[in-house]
Amino acid sequence: MFDSLSDRLESAFKKFKGQGRLDESNIQEGLREVRLALLEADVNFKVVKDFTERIRERCLGQEVLGSLTPGQQVIKIVNEEMVGLLGGETQDVDLRGKPAVVMMVGLQGSGKTTSAAKLALHFRRLRKMKPYLVPADVYRPAAIDQLQTLGRQLDVPVFASDTSMDPVEICRKGIEAAREEGCNVVLLDTAGRLHIDETLMDELANIKAACAPGEILFVADAMIGQEAVTVAEAFNEKLDISGVVLTKMDGDARGGAALSIKSVTGKPIKFVGMGEKVNDLEVFHPDRAASRILG
Ligand code: GDP
Repeated sequence: MFDSLSDRLESAFKKFKGQGRLDESNIQEGLREVRLALLEADVNFKVVKDFTERIRERCLGQEVLGSLTPGQQVIKIVNEEMVGLLGGETQDVDLRGKPAVVMMVGLQGSGKTTSAAKLALHFRRLRKMKPYLVPADVYRPAAIDQLQTLGRQLDVPVFASDTSMDPVEICRKGIEAAREEGCNVVLLDTAGRLHIDETLMDELANIKAACAPGEILFVADAMIGQEAVTVAEAFNEKLDISGVVLTKMDGDARGGAALSIKSVTGKPIKFVGMGEKVNDLEVFHPDRAASRILG
């Protein structure tokens, strides 16, 4: 997923590794390569600037200049800063509610419905929970059918939503039905639009107020790069999201969204979508992702 970024960074690191001694000018030159690699990967300009500045400051401190193998030391610093950029510690989901309520939000086509089904499977397999799916996108009847099909495929109960019902009512009743069926985690699949839309945002805010979800996961398509970060900011402003599911990371996304979203929104990536199938979901570990990027 981070292949081209990884290759670019590797050649930047050669600049550090080849040096017996590091001084301000060769550190500067190596970091210039790092900066270009990140910009090419579509990482937010300010994020790149702050990132390389932090590394530069640390490199120019005692840490590197006094070190026996300065090249390795620089790479260690880049690695630590990269883990921080990706969110630091792995972030868990809040499943304390009875039932726990996870609200999925995002633009149409981002992968909300698919991710809701993937998460239902994830919670059942890894947390031994009983999931329940609630389709609340009444504007796109196919979305309801899609979730019902996925539910049947996974043997997960799905609320019988109807396009004539109000989405807030669907979510409220869906949670009630889940409780009656003895399910302990409910996934609310809300409506999306092609663009950010005030009416939709108000509807989502109303669902949030009525259902008090423990998690509001913003689903972002990694393929749209920095645009995903702009959309995440808008959703976060309105809904105070709790985390991000970054989908389509199996594609040739350059990494811009993954590397910028935490710094820009302050909200962590919690899961990544790695394919169209229900099994293709992974918990996001910043340290492992950093290792993948840095090779
Ligand atoms: P929604 O409109 O946000 O509910 O989006 P959907 O769940 O319907 O997904 C839109 C398209 O993206 C579908 O064709 C999905 O199969 C596809 N999709 C979702 N997640 C992933 C992913 O992680 N990787 C890939 N390659 N495709 C995905």
